[in-house]
Amino acid sequence: MSTSVESFADLGLSDTLLQTLTQIGYETPSPIQAQCIPVLLEGHDLIGMAQTGTGKTAAFALPLMETIDVKLMKPQALILTPTRELAIQVAEALQSYAKNLPGFHVLPIYGGQSYTIQLKQLARGAHVIVGTPGRVMDHLERKTLNLDNLKTLVLDEADEMLRMGFIDDVEWILEHTPEQHQTALFSATMPEQIRRVAQKYLVEPREIKIKSATATVAAIRQVYWQVSGMHKLDALTRILEVEDDFDAAIIFVRTKTATVELADKLNARGYAAAALNGDLNQQMRERVIEQLKSGALDIVIATDVAARGIDVPRISHVVNYDIPYDTEAYVHRIGRTGRAGRTGNAILFVAPREIRMLRTIERATRQPIAPLTLPSRADVTNKRVAGFKEKVAEVLNAEGLEFFANIVSQIAEEQNVGAEEVAAALAMMAQEGKPLQIAGEDPPPARPMRGDDRRQASFGERDEHRPRFGERPAFPDRGGDKPRFERPRDHEDRRQRTPPTGDMVRYRIDVGREHGVQVKDIVGAIANEAGIESRFIGRIALYEESSTIELPAGMPSEAANALKRTRVRGVPINLRPDEGRPDSAGGERKFKKKPNY
Ligand code: ADP
Ligand code: MG
Repeated sequence: MSTSVESFADLGLSDTLLQTLTQIGYETPSPIQAQCIPVLLEGHDLIGMAQTGTGKTAAFALPLMETIDVKLMKPQALILTPTRELAIQVAEALQSYAKNLPGFHVLPIYGGQSYTIQLKQLARGAHVIVGTPGRVMDHLERKTLNLDNLKTLVLDEADEMLRMGFIDDVEWILEHTPEQHQTALFSATMPEQIRRVAQKYLVEPREIKIKSATATVAAIRQVYWQVSGMHKLDALTRILEVEDDFDAAIIFVRTKTATVELADKLNARGYAAAALNGDLNQQMRERVIEQLKSGALDIVIATDVAARGIDVPRISHVVNYDIPYDTEAYVHRIGRTGRAGRTGNAILFVAPREIRMLRTIERATRQPIAPLTLPSRADVTNKRVAGFKEKVAEVLNAEGLEFFANIVSQIAEEQNVGAEEVAAALAMMAQEGKPLQIAGEDPPPARPMRGDDRRQASFGERDEHRPRFGERPAFPDRGGDKPRFERPRDHEDRRQRTPPTGDMVRYRIDVGREHGVQVKDIVGAIANEAGIESRFIGRIALYEESSTIELPAGMPSEAANALKRTRVRGVPINLRPDEGRPDSAGGERKFKKKPNY
């Protein structure tokens, strides 16, 4: 959020959509939304540059939805995304924005999904298609997807599509769409190839870039927790419990709905918490702030707008439960703590895909943000036990203990136990409903994040869709915890001689160096088409005309079928089990046996 308080109503959206936004709890547009929506509504082509988590989906989805003729059951918008997770996410977002558009239909199509189902869905019709490049291209070729009525084409995360080796497919699609349509291209960065695609296929595009202004922040302890292995709510309560100088906190979330939900959940866990959002009138808002000041409340869960200007000296902690849209918002948020000469603490929750925003914030504020180790169960227990001991010690100094000491002796005598056991029973009674130990397990330590390798985070590691701790990945981790497989980039020939690792099967595919293929292209295509997380993809060896790839054994036939049809750089890969070593030239071999799936 930038400091300009623009409202959605100023952007030219229809009343229907404005009503929907109110219903789903969006208070104000994010900077990229505020700038892109009017331009897109005017019909211009657009290049939007902003990082992950800045609200790009609504930036293109809302204007696009204004152009949809619901009565015409034909694809009128096509959104290309690099991964199936994103295709699903974007489709879900559109569906939620279509709350008040009866009959509106959005269809995600991606590799790995059965063709039968997809063909049926396509035949039934949809207004918006959200898909990964390979599968969209495939349907266009088969003529099962018709874009004659296309009004809008969106390339979401264009740099990611480039990184994953889909740029040729994207261009192919751009070549095969009718000329007359609006095109919007979104990208976090603007590599040369993306720039070239934009120049070639966009018509006088407006360029919108969300810059990060530098700013200085007061001496506030800043830490971040990488969201992994545990729900944010559990992590939050653990952290708050163990933080040393905790007094009061403001927790920032993105939506009004989230303020209320989180307040309810924290109340249920015994915190004195309340929501502060734009739905409250001035009087109610002041009341909440007054209660926070007086100590009647310890936690306020707020949206950016609602928290503007709050000055409550006892706020010891600011928690960025949802990462802010930009550095300005971050600086504004954490400025709510460390007031009146007190120490302040700022805790930031960062999902793997938001790592770039973390680095941007560090750069903009010129301060490092240190990783926070999540308190373990033992840490929490120790803290609780220490608090309990303190309370007992206080009572030991209080008046009137004799009366109770007498009762304790009586119980001990009657039950024939020691005073210690009676004390234990009483302690248990005293802690009823507020256990000193917490349930659940400690999550495994998070894998270190690497800001410069987003491809890794693109598969399965996007926060919402990665398997949660304790859950097994859908496919294909049969053997429990396995190490990440190493992916060779050079010395392939040496590695080729080693047998596949663990329950891996080696396959051969008909694309190789002469097709201009790189390892990342293969990983991208396989991950998307078969729905295999990239970390389960084993070694890949590139030869001149073909390549080998190791995939987990026991591949479901759906995935196998999808892979047979997959293309890399436009070349059908014809995946089948590898039955031998290639000749020294890496040339072709003929395979007589049929693949055994
Ligand atoms: P990006 O595509 O830039 O990575 P998304 O479009 O996925 O970002 O948005 C990130 C999150 O922010 C989503 O959960 C979305 O619902 C939420 N969000 C987007 N715009 C707003 C808004 N104006 N108010 C509140 N939440 C928003
Ligand atoms: Mg996005």
